[in-house]
Parts: sequence; structure tokens; C-alpha cells
Amino acid sequence: MKNEYDVIIIGAGPAGLSAAEELRRHDRSVLVVEKNSTIGPKVCAGVLNARITELGFSLDLAEKKFSAIQVYVNNKGHTVSLPKVFLISIDREKFGRHQLDRVLKLGADITTGSHIKKITAQSVFIHELEIRYKYLIGADGSTSVTRKYLGLKTQKYGVTYQYRIPELYDEFRIYFDARNFGAGYGWFVPHTGYALIGTGRSIIEAGETNLKLQCQRWCGEKGIDLSSAHPESWPINYDYRGWQFGNIFLVGDAAGLTSGLTGEGIYSALVSGREAARKIIDPACSCPGIDNILLRKRHHERILSLIQSRRSLTGLYHHLMLFMTGNRHLSGKIIDFLF
Ligand SMILES: Cc1cc2nc3c(=O)[nH]c(=O)nc-3n(C[C@H](O)[C@H](O)[C@H](O)COP(=O)(O)OP(=O)(O)OC[C@H]3O[C@@H](n4cnc5c(N)ncnc54)[C@H](O)[C@@H]3O)c2cc1C
Repeated sequence: MKNEYDVIIIGAGPAGLSAAEELRRHDRSVLVVEKNSTIGPKVCAGVLNARITELGFSLDLAEKKFSAIQVYVNNKGHTVSLPKVFLISIDREKFGRHQLDRVLKLGADITTGSHIKKITAQSVFIHELEIRYKYLIGADGSTSVTRKYLGLKTQKYGVTYQYRIPELYDEFRIYFDARNFGAGYGWFVPHTGYALIGTGRSIIEAGETNLKLQCQRWCGEKGIDLSSAHPESWPINYDYRGWQFGNIFLVGDAAGLTSGLTGEGIYSALVSGREAARKIIDPACSCPGIDNILLRKRHHERILSLIQSRRSLTGLYHHLMLFMTGNRHLSGKIIDFLF
């Protein structure tokens, strides 16, 4: 580790490693600082749209590939199938390892077990050690210390609760159920050797709701045995307030680029990390990837605030989803719009 880098990246999630890869391709000196000892593991359902291939990731990284999913509204559901794989599930630890290998091959410096607690205008502190940067990228997720350093508030976030179930399930299921989840939803995502079953909703609507009890009740209704299940929970920041602040960038969840409607944020993290790197390499770069993410996010959150405003609108939206995903002309477009 040197005492100065072109770019210091805080956080080795999808956003941070994506930025590091792009910067190293253009020969910038890069230090990635990660607080955990292992890179990759993250509370996440691990669902990605198959368009991840456009970012140079092979579908071979998938644990499961889905050309059909089950969509339920209350207890009524149907199968949405398309002629090709449209969603995949990934194991976050394996995905992180894959990104890490790519970055290490390109020669970035990475330090793990290094929790950044202090940032100044020119440097970050790893324990007592001061390291200077020309640019800083905050890729440190929903509880970002970089965001706090910039003085940005986080008022819009999602609350989640999920269980890791050591059983094999084959069906990917999405549950819209206003009584249990309001404008949020429940998921049932098969992985290799386990499934992730959980729920998430916006704090604006959830308020003091006890999501854990709600999730347990819902699993009980579905006859899911939670006795050997491992519970997990983590917030999702979707409060976007900008991504470039002079020589400091926020990417992924730190920037609040995740969708408030679906909680989907891995793709945005990968794209925004890459775009922040491009902006550093060429300040005149137009960054259409971020513009597209923001456009989609705006559409999602317009729907969210509408359906949160009245329970009857939530129900209407859910039935519209059931209708549209059941229509063979619309189903592909709806899945692409949501995920
Ligand atoms: C329950 C749940 C389910 C989800 N399911 C999906 C899904 O199916 N599909 C999807 O696309 N998205 C999903 N998401 C969202 C997705 O997990 C995030 O959008 C994505 O991980 C964001 O990537 P990131 O790189 O911005 O942040 P993160 O993946 O959170 O990475 C941030 C990294 O920074 C490190 N870090 C934090 N603070 C510091 C510090 N001070 N110093 C050093 N390192 C630090 C962390 O340890 C972490 O490694 C889900 C989220 C939750 C909570």
C-alpha cells in the first residue's frame, strides 16, 4: 500500500469493484478499502436481469437461470414464461470473488479488514494510517460513511427481512400482498442448495411495522419451516441526492441509486461504479448509463409514491401486475421494467 493514490475507493461491493476495474484498465493507481475480511457476502436476494451480460458478465456466474417465474397477488398466481432466460440468481460471495479476481489481475491494491471512519478533503484514515487521494469514490453501501462526510441525509430507505433456508426449491416466486407487505413484496429465490425467502418495503410506508414478525407470519401461512433458517436484514438506501461532488463520487447504494419500488440495486451499482471511473478518466464523459438508471428509478418511484398514497391503489397496481405479466405481449416488457 502506498501513501497516495489517484483514486481511493471505499467499499468492495459490486459498485466499488466495478469502478476499480475500469480505472485500472486506464492505468490509474487505485486502492480499494473494504471493512470486512471477506469480499462479497452481503444481505441480498441475489437476483439479476440477464442483461448483466451487456456489462461483460457471463450467465455462467448464475446459480440458477430462470426463463419462468411465478407471480402471485394474494393467493392467486400464474407462471410468467419467456422464450429465453431473463432472470438469474447469483451467490454474492462467488460474484464478489469473480469481480475481485478481475480487479486483482489488473493490479489494483486492495485492503480488507480496514474500516474507514475518518475522511478529510485530501485523505482517508485506515486506523491511524493517512492515505491521500486525488479522487475518492464512496462505494460503501447504504450506511455510507462517504455520504455522511458529504453531509447528505438518508430519509428514503427500504427495510428488509429475509431467511436463508437450507432446502431446495426450484420456483422463483414474487408475492404481491398488500395485507402483509403493503406496496412492497415478498420473494422466494432459489439458489444452489438453499433458498432466500423474504420481504422488503419502504420505510415511508412501513414506519414502525415489525417486519420480522410480518415475515414470520407470512412464512407460517406458506407452511415454510423456519426452525433451521438463518435470518438476515439490511437497509436499502434509495434516497438519491447526486453522485458527483467535486473530486468525490458516490456510487451504488451509497448514492441511493437502488430502486425504491423493487429494491434492485446490483445492476445500478455495477453501472454507476463504471461510470464514475469513466468520469474521472475523462471529465467530459456524458455517462448515459447513470442517466438511464435515474430515468428508470424516477419511473419506479413515481409508481411507488402513487401506490403508497392509498391502499386501494396498491391493490389496483398488484392486479394490474397480474394482468400485465399474464399477457404474452406485455410480460417481457414488464419484467424488464421492474428488474
Ligand atoms: C434483503 C435485500 C435483498 C436484495 N436483493 C436484491 C436483488 O435480488 N437484486 C438486486 O439487484 N439488488 C438487491 N438488493 C440490493 C443490493 O444488495 C444492493 O443494491 C447492492 O449490493 C449495492 O451494491 P454496492 O456496491 O453499492 O454496495 P454493497 O454491496 O453494500 O457494498 C458496500 C461495501 O462497502 C463496505 N463498506 C461499508 N462501509 C465501509 C467503510 N466505512 N469502510 C470500508 N468498507 C466499507 C461494505 O462492507 C461492503 O462490502 C437487496 C438488498 C437487500 C438488503
